[in-house]
Order: sequence, then C-alpha cells, then structure tokens
Amino acid sequence: MMHTQPISNVIHIEKKTAQRLKDTVPAQPLIALSAAEVRQQLLMQLQSSLDLRAVLTMFFNTSQRLVAYDSLVFNHAAHDAEVVLGAAHSQHRIQYTLNYQSEFLGDMTFTRAQRFSDLELGNLESIMSSLVLPLRNALLYSTALQNALKDPLTGIGNRNSMQATLERDIAIAHRHNHALSVLMIDIDYFKRVNDIYGHNMGDLVLTKVAQTLEKQLRNTDSLFRYGGEEFLVVLPNTASTEAVLVAERLRESLESLLISNEQGVINVTASLGCATLNTDESLSSLLQRSDKALYAAKHNGRNQVQYAS
Ligand code: GH3
Ligand code: MG
Ligand code: MG
Repeated sequence: MMHTQPISNVIHIEKKTAQRLKDTVPAQPLIALSAAEVRQQLLMQLQSSLDLRAVLTMFFNTSQRLVAYDSLVFNHAAHDAEVVLGAAHSQHRIQYTLNYQSEFLGDMTFTRAQRFSDLELGNLESIMSSLVLPLRNALLYSTALQNALKDPLTGIGNRNSMQATLERDIAIAHRHNHALSVLMIDIDYFKRVNDIYGHNMGDLVLTKVAQTLEKQLRNTDSLFRYGGEEFLVVLPNTASTEAVLVAERLRESLESLLISNEQGVINVTASLGCATLNTDESLSSLLQRSDKALYAAKHNGRNQVQYAS
C-alpha cells in the first residue's frame, strides 16, 4: 500500500498546498486520513530534516490528522534534549519509550483532555514506527555536531567552539557596552609530568584540571582547551577587578588539587594571563594581550596571575 502511485501523488500535492495555505490564509480544518496514509506522509516528510525539533514538529503536525491531542513532549536525558510541542497541561497522558533494536531513542508523552481510545493508541503506535529511523538520524546528527565542538580528552570546548563563543560574546559586549574578560591559563612545567610519570598521568592531569576549572565557573562563563596544556576562560559581564579575583580563585583551586593514579600522587600549578576587552578591540588583540600577560606570569616565577595592560 505504501508503494502505490496514486497515494504518493496525492500526498505530494497536499504537502505543497498545505505549505501555500500556511503562508497565505488561516489554517483550515484538515480532512482525517487513515493510519497508512499518515504513515506514508510522515515517511516522506521526516526524511527532509536532520534537526531534532524539526523532525518532531513534522510528526506533531501530521499525526494530528489521525489522532487529535494537545501536546507531545520528547525527552532524551543523555542527549540533553527536551522538546515540548503544544500545551502540556491536559489531564490524560500516554507515554512511550522508543527503541531501535536495543538503542534507547527517547521518551514521548502525548497529552489531551479526553482519554485515548484503544483504536487511537493503536494508530499512534502504528505511525510512531515511521519516526524511529528519522529520530535516530537526528540524534546521531546532533551528537556529531556536539562532538565537532568538543575536545575529546577533556570533554570541554575545543578551539573551534572557542572561536565561535568569543566572536559572539565580544560582539554582544561591544554592542551593549558590557565588560568582558578572558583568562589564558597554562600549566607550569607540564612537560616534566609527562617525562617523569608518563603520558597517561599527563592526560589525567589535563582532565582533572579541566574539571576543576569548570567547577569554579558560573554558567555564563565558558572554558575551552586552547592548546596542549593551555586553557582559555571567557568571562562575560566581568570587569578587570572581578576577573583578577576569579583568576586568583582558579589558580588556588589548581594549586590545592591532588591528582593520583598507579604512578603516584602529584600536584601542579598554573600561570594565568588576564585581559579585559577595550573599546572596539578585536578578538585577536584581546587574545594577544592575555597571552602577553601569561608570558609575564611565567617570567615572574609561575603559579601567579598577571593582568594585561
Ligand atoms: P611552562 O611552565 O613554561 O609552561 O613549561 P611546560 O613544560 O608546561 O611547557 P612546554 O610547552 O615546554 O610543554 C608542554 C607539554 O605539553 C609538551 C607536550 O608534550 C605536552 N602536551 C601537549 N598536549 C598534550 C596531551 O594531550 N597530553 C599529554 N599527556 N601531554 C600533552
Ligand atoms: Mg604551553
Ligand atoms: Mg606549560
């Protein structure tokens, strides 16, 4: 049935017509379709996007032609995904867990004012089967996008995401005349850690340092791995005095951190260069000044904060 030509043609025209109507006149009540027709329509639509919200929105809109309901809530904690479509305060709810083979794809909850009949539930279940593969593709795509911005060792943002965040935050700071500061952090004598304790200990130090820095920061601050054993912190809405206090707090938290594995227990220190964005200053100039301050901190004996002039 899914392969018959007439149905596929009808759906094609309806899709275009619906789009035209949406752009020009108020929505008209749609004619109810059979489960097979809705499934066919969904199979075609859902292939057109890899965006999770877009895929779920298509499902939400088209499935209403078979079973009317008020809201659809999608949750996938491991993906940090929650999508709420419609108004989710109706009394009756039905929840499904979606799996592809043994892979968990998320929970879907449908709500409405009246009870769902067995026929309606059967219909919902039948059309949800068309959602499984497009949903899985959308989740894989979102993971790939997230990974492209992450440092694989420490899990914090990499240089690509640092560039994007800095560009955005600097533009906001200039536009609204807000303060913005950055901290460039470099672990002291890190080469010795690798040389004496081995690369595994070196990698562990990098991971623990990243976790320790992250714990000290606010939600609006961002932490990135800038290079090998260098990190960058972006502090939006933060002027020089406060930035130096944050830098000092980070320095102390690293100094008191003990890192252990089967090779032994060690601690490391770090040097920090702090710079606050000047009027009309560019991203590269700000980074250069923080790097210069970091160099001064190294030159002055390490394990300290220097503020860029
Ligand atoms: P300074 O106090 O002047 O910063 O000295 P340093 O030894 O920290 O600096 P240097 O630039 O001489 O050495 C950095 C070392 O970081 C060298 C490199 O092998 C190591 N490194 C870079 N990336 C990684 C990594 O991903 N894992 C490990 N284990 N080591 C890394
Ligand atoms: Mg370095
Ligand atoms: Mg170093």
